[in-house]
Amino acid sequence: MAYTILRGGRVLDIAAGTAEPADILIEDDTIREIGPPGMPAPAEARELSAAHRLIHPGLVNAHTHSHGNLAKGMGDRWTLELLLTAAPWLGGNRGAEDIHLSAQIGAVEMVLKGCTACYDLFFEWPMPSRDGMALVASAYAEVGMRAVIAPMVADRSFFEAIPGLADALPPALRESVAALRLAPGETTLAAIREGLRDWSFDQVRPAVAPTIPHHCSDEFILGCANLARDFDLGLHSHVAESKVQAVTGIRVYGRTQTAHLDRLGVIGPQFTVAHGVWLDHDDMARLGDRGASVAHNPGSNMRLGSGLADARAMLDRRVNLGIGTDGASCADNQNMYEAMRLASFVSKVQGPDWQNWLSTREAALAATEGSARTLGFERIGRIAPGYKADLVLLDLDHPNWLPFNDPVNQLVHCEDGTAVDSVMIGGRMVVENRRVLSVDLARLRERAEAARERLAAANADDRLLYEALAPVVGSYCPGLARLPYHVHRYGAHVE
Ligand SMILES: [Zn+2]
Repeated sequence: MAYTILRGGRVLDIAAGTAEPADILIEDDTIREIGPPGMPAPAEARELSAAHRLIHPGLVNAHTHSHGNLAKGMGDRWTLELLLTAAPWLGGNRGAEDIHLSAQIGAVEMVLKGCTACYDLFFEWPMPSRDGMALVASAYAEVGMRAVIAPMVADRSFFEAIPGLADALPPALRESVAALRLAPGETTLAAIREGLRDWSFDQVRPAVAPTIPHHCSDEFILGCANLARDFDLGLHSHVAESKVQAVTGIRVYGRTQTAHLDRLGVIGPQFTVAHGVWLDHDDMARLGDRGASVAHNPGSNMRLGSGLADARAMLDRRVNLGIGTDGASCADNQNMYEAMRLASFVSKVQGPDWQNWLSTREAALAATEGSARTLGFERIGRIAPGYKADLVLLDLDHPNWLPFNDPVNQLVHCEDGTAVDSVMIGGRMVVENRRVLSVDLARLRERAEAARERLAAANADDRLLYEALAPVVGSYCPGLARLPYHVHRYGAHVE
């Protein structure tokens, strides 16, 4: 047994809104005791000073995509549909080194910015593999970060998923996108099952992400749900993210995506909806009644012009609310402080009834305990005995905290990650003095630059294909998004 005691810090209790001076005794990877300053500790305990530090529970990113990290900054104005069109250019021709590197860059960014765990929906072309899953898992394990990694899968391409879109393309382009056809569903499911065999990672766990409901046949969604049930894993899907998706859901299913998923019987406590911008109140009630979660990604929703999710209406219907950054090609940084702050702000622009706005307390709880529940890790997201020692130490001498008026308001509205001094995950120091201890950043930079050069050359044709497709997708999909779509209490319909 190894003991550590953090002495002299102020320990944040988000729910209570307090940050009292206290010492924290950690045994192996778990918080054992929180007591008054100077409390006794086992003689062999390693003693760490937390003087002038606010200790908050590690932030938990409920939704990201590790493959996006090598594509950061590659585009500016794109909708979700244009981004999906760009996917072969942004993520094509990735080898083992790229899969690992892309995940590791994101993990390093997250831990440096106070995030200790994430839900990563990673993509591997043409389908997930045992090696790919192990590469992503080891990228997190080497950094020392906790993660749930979910292969993002479908059995229909984007162009097959939106009715009428392929027909709107000129014949030559229609042929090009036919090459983007995905593997048959059973093949993909078998590949995931193979990847799950003898899972050997402890802080990294698997899940399954049927990416967008109408990109998946019903049989495929049910196959994913069966896999999740067999292996006791989470299910995560982009639902009602863009208006195009919402309208397409009605066209394909005759009801909302959520109503359809509910009919399939796949919504339960293990199910996470990513985004949920276009959920109606019935959808939210379905999710709440089944104990499901929403991963709210306000930065991505604004960046892609998807809209503003109504977190208050979700909470009112007992939906578990988590907060995420989304991937680097649509959000673009992996900064959970910013995501929390935006969650607060996005709620506040949705109406004059300020009593309905998300409070900083609710935003901070969503980014810790709420997100933790989506990941399914037991006992993370809170500083309490029996919880994992996933702790962030903020420098209270940093201007973000001068003066120190209110811990929760300042955590959500003032902090931007620049005051992060140290980060502990599972009792192990991963960041100290603002430096990542586990990974050599100079080496990471060399690898990233080499990958950038190689991938830019390898994906040059896919970039041209994107540039040819963008005018068509960029006019067809906004056409769908201009259709009237009423989100109201008694269900959604397209006129
Ligand atoms: Zn996403």
